[in-house]
Amino acid sequence: MRAQTRPSAVLGGLLDLVLPRRCVQCGTAGEWLCGRCAADLRTLPAERCRHCGAPDRFAMSSCRECRGRGLWFVSASAAFTYEGPARALVMACKFRAYRSLVDEMAQRAGPCFATVVESLAGAAPGTSSAEGGTLVTWVPGHRDHTLERGFNQAELLARGLARHAGLPAAPLLRRLRHGARQSGLGRAQRAANVHGSFALREDADRVARAFSRVMIVDDVYTTGETLNHGAEVLINADLEPHVFTFARTVRPVPSQTSLDNAVRKERCP
Ligand SMILES: [Zn+2]
Ligand SMILES: [Zn+2]
Repeated sequence: MRAQTRPSAVLGGLLDLVLPRRCVQCGTAGEWLCGRCAADLRTLPAERCRHCGAPDRFAMSSCRECRGRGLWFVSASAAFTYEGPARALVMACKFRAYRSLVDEMAQRAGPCFATVVESLAGAAPGTSSAEGGTLVTWVPGHRDHTLERGFNQAELLARGLARHAGLPAAPLLRRLRHGARQSGLGRAQRAANVHGSFALREDADRVARAFSRVMIVDDVYTTGETLNHGAEVLINADLEPHVFTFARTVRPVPSQTSLDNAVRKERCP
């Protein structure tokens, strides 16, 4: 049965077509992100964890943020740090039912996504993006959010990124239950909230048979719990899950001096 679209979602679609656009960061008329604010988008540094994508003092295979956690995805990448104009775009999407905002995000993140896909294909000899080694999918929408907007922004973003990289996109995951909203919850609460929320779609086996690698797309990586649960479902179906988000929350990277001080403190009770 098709979910009923609320009037607010219909109105949002109409307003998207007729209202003049304003920069989500500074309000300048003309486009969703003006040239000056777009220049403030910050990409993640090359010095980061290859597993969870957290920036650190140098590239590493696991970091203080993900070590000891049962992360099911092989790698997590993001186009931008979740601050400034990137955060303004994501927040604007949450409160306005405008598909064109998600199109803007897909356009901005597209080049980074294509680079990540190429590097993953290059790391696995015998497959390449051109041979269809990677399938793009997304985190299933929360019923409340999807009804409010009339669309699932993770799906729109995934489909936009897939088009940019010339890859196929298909739904693989479905929601079994709709937990509480994740915002405002800590990591352990988020993990408990999403556990058991997803399952493989009935037709996913057939769709995914031609692919070994799957890229799960979402708008923001915060603690990674929702994406991790999606990855767990896919790995149980013999697929190799990777994660890509438009933005990622980042914690300040400790300097060597502060690390030395922390060690000194531990030694002197
Ligand atoms: Zn601006
Ligand atoms: Zn890590």
